Amino acid sequence: MARDIVDERLVGALHVRALTRAGLQHDTVDEHVAVQAGTLAALLEGGYDGDAMLAEVLRLGDLGLGTVQHLDGELVVLDGEAWAVRADGRVEALAGSVRTPFAVVCQFVGAATVRCEEPWTLAELHDAVDRAARTDLGAPHDDVVAVRATGRFRDLRLRSVARQQRPYPPLHEVVAHQTEWQVGSTTGTVVGFRFPDTLAGVEVPGYHLHFLSDDRSAGGHVLDLTMLDGEVRLQACEDLHVELPAGVGLGTPGAVDRDEVQRVEGGGSTR
Ligand SMILES: [Zn+2]
Repeated sequence: MARDIVDERLVGALHVRALTRAGLQHDTVDEHVAVQAGTLAALLEGGYDGDAMLAEVLRLGDLGLGTVQHLDGELVVLDGEAWAVRADGRVEALAGSVRTPFAVVCQFVGAATVRCEEPWTLAELHDAVDRAARTDLGAPHDDVVAVRATGRFRDLRLRSVARQQRPYPPLHEVVAHQTEWQVGSTTGTVVGFRFPDTLAGVEVPGYHLHFLSDDRSAGGHVLDLTMLDGEVRLQACEDLHVELPAGVGLGTPGAVDRDEVQRVEGGGSTR
């Protein structure tokens, strides 16, 4: 039934391959592929029960982001380890048995590197990645780009969401009660992706970035930051493999309200 919703021509055009659960389990690790468990459309509608186990997700990628079962915080995948940033800002290591309703990961190799030598606003960080993706990687505008920025950061504005109970409210209601906090100055890593506009409904278009401090005392979904100095590594993922949980189809672009997605998941600028 879920497969009926998928328009194969559209999927081909988006470089998205829809996989069944079994397909995801048999997927191979490839640096040119980003793999997603769950869909944003399902998440927006309140599908917070995790379907994929983190152990399976980590097998397919060592860098990425998402959320965890019951929407119990922001997920950060860094160097093959999964961390949750809870609504109160606490950072906790996650076991492989924890489930996720939405996660995107890739096998990160860092095909290009950009040095940050003077403070960058978040928009300037986006611009630097856009430029490097275009000039160093020759990545088309509609490629998914994976980002790993390490260094010193200031004025981080981070957020997370609180664990939800059934019946689950839609995401916009949850995010209306999100917690936000500021981190004045710290060293750490920003991980995430640039998703093309054509993936609206499957992903948040534009940049989606999460942060984790080196001492694992702070993290979250990035709403704003200044990068003081450091190194930004990136790579293009030509394909996005999407696992479809039972009963969920790939959203068609426009099927998800763009303004709604920006309200809920925004925080970075869209390109
Ligand atoms: Zn996020």
